[in-house]
Amino acid sequence: MTIAGGCLCGALRYEASAPPQYAGYCFCKDCRKASGGGFIGFMAFPAGTLAFSGESIVHTMIQDDGRRSERNFCPSCGGLVFGGVRGKADQHTVYAGSLDDPSHFKPTIAIFNSQRPEWAPLPPGLKVFEKMPG
Ligand SMILES: [Zn+2]
Ligand SMILES: [Zn+2]
Repeated sequence: MTIAGGCLCGALRYEASAPPQYAGYCFCKDCRKASGGGFIGFMAFPAGTLAFSGESIVHTMIQDDGRRSERNFCPSCGGLVFGGVRGKADQHTVYAGSLDDPSHFKPTIAIFNSQRPEWAPLPPGLKVFEKMPG
């Protein structure tokens, strides 16, 4: 199975050679700001199962707890595609909206529910975390 996707213009692309380890929704305010939407759907992959192509610009946010959130977007179209610095991260999050075939996104969790706006509904059947899990 190959899971593939990329940005709006196609310059920044990825292919995954294995299914994601987990997938869900992040409702944190940073994902809201970064995406312009109510949440980001994400899928987590070990770095070794992903192949990227194309340039990206990395934007870094330092969280309250000191963690770094690094988001990669396409320099041409601005599309937000994945998290984590290539060549450094052991694991990347890939943003579900970038999938060529959106049916590959099978969310099971929701994180940062405490920051979810009222107008972004919480889908049923998910394990919900008010902040970051454990
Ligand atoms: Zn692009
Ligand atoms: Zn988030």
